Amino acid sequence: MDLTLLEEALAARGEPGYRARQVWEWTARGAAGYEEMTSLPAALRHSLAGDVPFSTLELVEEARGRDGTVKALFRTTDGHPVEAVSMRFRDGRRSLCVSSQSGCPLTCSFCATGQMRFGRNLTGSELLDQALHFRRAGEVDHCVFMGMGEPLMNLDAVLDACRRLPELGITHRRTAVSTVGWLPGLERFAEVDMPIRLALSLHAPDDALRSRLMPVNDRYPLADVLAACAAYHARRRRMVFVEYVLLAGVNDRVEHARALARLLDRRIYKVNLIPYNPTGVFQASPPAAIAAFRATLERAGLSVTVRVTRGRDVAAACGQLAAAARPRG
Ligand code: SAH
Repeated sequence: MDLTLLEEALAARGEPGYRARQVWEWTARGAAGYEEMTSLPAALRHSLAGDVPFSTLELVEEARGRDGTVKALFRTTDGHPVEAVSMRFRDGRRSLCVSSQSGCPLTCSFCATGQMRFGRNLTGSELLDQALHFRRAGEVDHCVFMGMGEPLMNLDAVLDACRRLPELGITHRRTAVSTVGWLPGLERFAEVDMPIRLALSLHAPDDALRSRLMPVNDRYPLADVLAACAAYHARRRRMVFVEYVLLAGVNDRVEHARALARLLDRRIYKVNLIPYNPTGVFQASPPAAIAAFRATLERAGLSVTVRVTRGRDVAAACGQLAAAARPRG
């Protein structure tokens, strides 16, 4: 819902100032439409439904994976595709993965989103509407900006959405923003007044390899990105999560792990290893290589987790969001 449009529509009707708040509270708690907002006069509900679309996104289709992961494909009013994912974990947590852009202008070689056409930055309302869609299906408690796009290229909209997420049940501490290391956004992120988590997509321990996998590294090289993360840590006293997708024979050897361990200060970084999800380009590292990589990092004192793969059967896993592309793998 476009909250600015809502406020304008209410003001134009001479409605009292608290109406916008009322509408938002119903929406944040998962109302399916204006008709459910019984604390509003019926005539107002009716006329709002005509003038302020309940969502800025139109749902095109939903795919349900065997593990309970749901991938939703939406379209913006100007026709751009957007995907978001909901994952339910065994302990009952429900985590949302939200897109910050339609497509992505960066062209990381292992990520399907980078292969589709870049559309545009999404608005704060379009970010919230992805989360609200899933909120209508039940409680939600975590949100990661790890869908399509680079959130730190669209930081203002991301922060607008983050400010509202607690009312959906998602606290700032359970919200995470992931970046390739987009420096202008990263430097601003350190000054944000909400305790949102930071994740850095690193994927290689040296510039040559990283530039090959992620062309953005030519623009913002490793040393500068890590310096910005260290500054964030110094300022916020929060650990940075390093994401590292393991590509067989490319970045998954023990010498890569050793180089990574030398690069990362264990007081600042935790490592999250990501098994590669097929996008048609690389091969996934075998479990033994993942275990050896992990052990090398742990011997150096780093804290390491391996991401649990979700939603692969409906192309909803990390790196597979490509808007209506047929499921791969
Ligand atoms: N642009 C931001 C936000 C997207 S997060 C960023 O890159 O951090 C998406 C995460 O999934 C990133 O860590 C990305 O590197 C990872 N990823 C991309 N392609 C993948 C693939 N094929 N398999 C596993 N992880 C992948």
